[in-house]
Parts: sequence; structure tokens; C-alpha cells
Amino acid sequence: MTEFLATGTLPDHYAELAKTVRDFAQSVVAPVAAKHDEEHSFPYEVVSGMADMGLFGLPFPEEYGGMGGDYFALCLALEELGKVDQSVAITLEAGVSLGAMPVYRFGSEDQKQEWLPLLASGKALGAFGLTEAGGGSDAGATKTTAKLDDGHWVINGSKQFITNSGTDITKLVTVTAVTGENNGKKEISSILVPVPTPGFTAEPAYNKVGWNASDTHPLSFDDVRVPEQNLLGERGRGYANFLRILDEGRIAIAALSVGAAQGCVDESVKYAKEREAFGRPIGSNQAIAFKIARMEARAHVARAAYYDAAALLLSGKPFKKQAAIAKMVASEAAMDNARDATQIFGGYGFMNEYSVARHYRDSKILEIGEGTTEVQLLLIGRELGL
Ligand SMILES: Cc1cc2nc3c(=O)[nH]c(=O)nc-3n(C[C@H](O)[C@H](O)[C@H](O)COP(=O)(O)OP(=O)(O)OC[C@H]3O[C@@H](n4cnc5c(N)ncnc54)[C@H](O)[C@@H]3O)c2cc1C
Repeated sequence: MTEFLATGTLPDHYAELAKTVRDFAQSVVAPVAAKHDEEHSFPYEVVSGMADMGLFGLPFPEEYGGMGGDYFALCLALEELGKVDQSVAITLEAGVSLGAMPVYRFGSEDQKQEWLPLLASGKALGAFGLTEAGGGSDAGATKTTAKLDDGHWVINGSKQFITNSGTDITKLVTVTAVTGENNGKKEISSILVPVPTPGFTAEPAYNKVGWNASDTHPLSFDDVRVPEQNLLGERGRGYANFLRILDEGRIAIAALSVGAAQGCVDESVKYAKEREAFGRPIGSNQAIAFKIARMEARAHVARAAYYDAAALLLSGKPFKKQAAIAKMVASEAAMDNARDATQIFGGYGFMNEYSVARHYRDSKILEIGEGTTEVQLLLIGRELGL
């Protein structure tokens, strides 16, 4: 079943999940999206609803409190949420794919038992601290350090732009830190930091262009002491492990982006039929119909790209190139569709209460976060041996 996932022919269990999340997105998320965006407030009640539906546990086995689904199920949920509210979608994406997945992929049995049921329940959020002021694309430039002292890691440094790191329900931040040197090269490891831990601070939230209802903070670590057993995965494998997490995270961001791109199409079709100018619906002008047709084509191609990458991931085949392609084309589709939808809505498209205006502000970060478009091109080029 995972060998081939075609758009429009989803097996029943996937189609039912997508419909359930679509209904939730329309009935619970959409009505409060503009309010949270305007107030820059974290949508705790929406997150609690998603938790009750089991969305934070979608790809994890039941033995760890999950729903026993897979990564593609997560992607479908992200696509549906991304249609109406990217802030809510990225909260789920970061909570599952960046917050909990490192523990699932690389944690010891004890670490999985300790963290996964909590994170999969959605009652607590985990965050992923890789980016620093001096290194986003160049994430190996990590300066944060962790030194062993009397059975504890002592962490010092700072992280930047970290999603879900400062909510009232944030309970874990996994960070990369330099733990030594190997043959003149930095040894980078990843370490679990429970929240709160003395010396750890989520600094005041950023004032962002978009994703206003998503939680993003700079983090500082000032002699943060955690037990030696909080090392996640092998010592020295932290950077490599985080890159693996980012590879699959790109499929999730692609799915979220497809949602945004499709949301813009859906809103534009409705509006183009209702809005009249010169005595007829604006959609009866080919200039508008062609614009929307192109938007639909972009969303469709991007969806096929993420389905393809997800099918490879699920079947255990190499997927790095396909994930980078999906992330690039889907984020560009979202940005292009948001720009076109705003144009179709005319002056109303520039008003914040319209969802296309939110997509216009929100979509830009899709081309930057979890690897910029240029980084995707670097990865694709490398896979081609260039
Ligand atoms: C809202 C938000 C949420 C985020 N959430 C998280 C999170 O949860 N965890 C986390 O760790 N990080 C997070 N990030 C960080 C994000 O992943 C980085 O911002 C992103 O990877 C880019 O890094 P940078 O900002 O340092 O830009 P830079 O790396 O400085 O890049 C600047 C520009 O230079 C280009 N560039 C850099 N190197 C090359 C090259 N070799 N060739 C060509 N072009 C190049 C880039 O493509 C970009 O256009 C988040 C960021 C934002 C804004």
C-alpha cells in the first residue's frame, strides 16, 4: 500500500483521517484563526482539541501512546490544517516531527517511555533547538557547548527561532551542542533538556511577519545541568541525527505548504464566482480563470511530490532528494498561490481578516524554515553528484 500513493485514490483509513481533520479545521480552527493571528496568541483550545483527536500521536506506535499510524497520516493532517491556518499546522508539525520524533528515532527505551506518551498525548509539547544566531543553513556552526561534570551535562549557549519552545505546555527542548572534538572536527551531540530546568530561559517571543499564532522564541542556556543519561542517541551523532529529522520534516512542511496552496485555490474559486465587476463574476474573465487553473496545477504537482517522497520514506527507501524537491516545489506553490489569491481578492485580499491575506504573510516562511529553497537546491544537486 505504501509503495504507491496516488493523489485522489487514498486508501479508506487515510481518506477518513483527512476528512475528520478537514471537518475539525473548518468547524474549530477556521472560526478563531483571524483572532489568534491578530492577537498573536497561542491557540491553546485548538491544540487541546487536536490532542483529544490524537493528532500529536499519529505516527507513533500505540505502545508509546501513539495512534499507530505513520508519517503520511501526519502529512495528511498537516495538509488539511494548512488550508485554513498555518500557525496551527506548524504547531502540530513542530510538536510531532521536530519535538517528539527525535526521541522516537534515536532515544533509548527509557527515554521513549519517559517522553513519548506525554508528547504523543498533545498535553505537552517538545521543541527542536538546532538554529543559532551564527548558523541556520550552516547548522554545523553550532557554538552551544555541553561539558560533562560529575554525571551531568552542563550546557551553555543560545538558540534562535525555536518553535513551540515557550508555551505553557512546553516540557522538552532537544538541543544540539558541541560536546568535544574529534580529529580536529567539532563533535556535536543532541541532549534532552526538560522544561523547566534552572538556567534555561525562553526569551520573549519574536514579533513575526506571519505564523503569528505559532510560538517562536530565542533560547538561552546558562549552566543548564541535566543528567548524563539525557544524551539523545550516540555521542557525536547529534548533527547527523538532526539532519535525518530534517529530511523527513521536509515532507511534512511540503504537506503543510500544499494545504496552504490548496486553501488559496479553494478561496479563490469561491470568490471568483461571487464577486462581480463590470456586471459579471470576475471568474468569467479568462485572465482570472487561468490564474486559478495555474494555482490548482501548482497545488496538484506539489501534492504528488510529497506523496512520492512519503511513499519512499514509508517503504524504507532513500528519500532525501524527493523530500527536498517536495519541500521546494510545495513552498513555492504556497507562496505563488498566496500572491495570486491576494490579487484575485483585490483590496479585500489586503485585509487581515481574509484568510488569503494571512496566507500571503504566512507562506514566505515556508520557503525558509527547515532548510531554505537554496539549501534544497544544494541537497538536490548533491544527490545528483554535483
Ligand atoms: C518562524 C520560524 C520558526 C523556526 N523554527 C525553528 C525550530 O523550531 N528549530 C530550529 O532549529 N530552527 C527553526 N527555525 C530556523 C530556520 O530553520 C532557519 O531560519 C533557516 O534554516 C535559515 O537559516 P538562517 O535564518 O540562519 O539563514 P542563513 O542560513 O543565514 O541564510 C541566509 C540566506 O543565505 C542563503 N544561503 C546560506 N547558505 C547558502 C549556500 N551555501 N548557498 C546558497 N545560499 C545560501 C539562504 O538560503 C538564505 O537565503 C525557524 C525559523 C523561523 C523564522
